[in-house]
Amino acid sequence: MKVVVVGAGYAGMLAANRITKKVKTAEITVINPRPDFVERVRLHQQIAGTHVAATPLTSMLRDGITARVGTVEKIGDGCATLDDGESLAFDYAFLAVGSTVRPMPGTIPVGTWEGAEEARTTLASLPPDSAVTVIGGGATGIETAAELAEARPDLRVRIVGPSVADNFSHRARARVRAELRRLNVVIVDDGVTEVVDGVARLRSGAAFASDLTLWAIVAGVPDLAARSGLTVDTEGRALVDDCLRSVDDERIFVVGDCAAVPGARFACALAAPQAAHAADTLARLIEGRALEPYSLRYLGRAVTLGRKSAVAQFTHPDDTLRRTCLTGRTAVVLKELATRGGKYGARTGTGG
Ligand SMILES: Cc1cc2nc3c(=O)[nH]c(=O)nc-3n(C[C@H](O)[C@H](O)[C@H](O)COP(=O)(O)OP(=O)(O)OC[C@H]3O[C@@H](n4cnc5c(N)ncnc54)[C@H](O)[C@@H]3O)c2cc1C
Repeated sequence: MKVVVVGAGYAGMLAANRITKKVKTAEITVINPRPDFVERVRLHQQIAGTHVAATPLTSMLRDGITARVGTVEKIGDGCATLDDGESLAFDYAFLAVGSTVRPMPGTIPVGTWEGAEEARTTLASLPPDSAVTVIGGGATGIETAAELAEARPDLRVRIVGPSVADNFSHRARARVRAELRRLNVVIVDDGVTEVVDGVARLRSGAAFASDLTLWAIVAGVPDLAARSGLTVDTEGRALVDDCLRSVDDERIFVVGDCAAVPGARFACALAAPQAAHAADTLARLIEGRALEPYSLRYLGRAVTLGRKSAVAQFTHPDDTLRRTCLTGRTAVVLKELATRGGKYGARTGTGG
């Protein structure tokens, strides 16, 4: 039985490594544009030089799984067509191409490997007292601004967003902002309208010049599903049934950021359980057992604030905020364990 996995992120890797354990007859091919698994949740560290976020696919995939470097241009009719023209036939496919970025012109995106590498090189060339602006007041922007400020205290780092850290409870938000200030990050609660020649203009009319402007907002998904004629939502995510199969083709499972699961946001914390559930569903199908619906459940969200501080915000299963949050060393350990757990789960096919 041929299984093709498109995308070797958290969801694709976990799915491939789990299927190989559960479905012994599966011949699995994983297709990814790069020969590495990229820990996207560590891309801000890649930029700051505090962690290497890429690991060779060969050391992440279990024996017997084939890794194929390439980009899938179209998927459907039991076939995945690659950018070099080759077509791989499949009995089942896992669409796991993740999410992407839509950077404002004049900025460098944090959320892709290529953007992170460009940012890392530029950052390394900046002399002391240079100005760095991070656009995006959500988790990615907060983690990026804090990581850079801690790693390069000689730089002037600023974070800009309509309301920085507004997706946290009152207490957690206050702590996040206090920690950013402790690291000398200037917080600007405003929207950016354009960036031209390194000058960012804000809705309020203010403007400031930077030597490096980073776009720390993850938005949209690759257009592979839409291009392939699968039904997608307004963000381009493929619509799925309650077992995470495309509503157009039961042979295609869709998992991770590119799946239109009601209530889901872009999160590694969701990609892993979805991949695990879809892999288990395939095993059930093969064994002729009854299928079980996937149910989405949140635990919380956490941000690092450099290497020595973090805030972990607990949520209800539907992602609404609880008042409880953790800070300090406990939060740092919790977040690091979750991050390591994401990679471990991808490599071993466990979790979820
Ligand atoms: C700096 C940063 C910090 C983050 N922190 C957190 C966090 O703390 N907690 C959390 O839950 N989430 C976090 N996220 C979000 C998290 O990284 C994503 O939700 C997660 O990576 C989604 O996993 P995925 O497997 O769906 O997609 P990805 O990890 O994006 O993997 C998708 C893979 O598919 C490949 N691909 C794309 N198109 C094609 C194609 N046409 N053919 C073949 N392959 C293709 C890509 O190259 C990539 O390798 C963070 C993101 C960033 C950028």
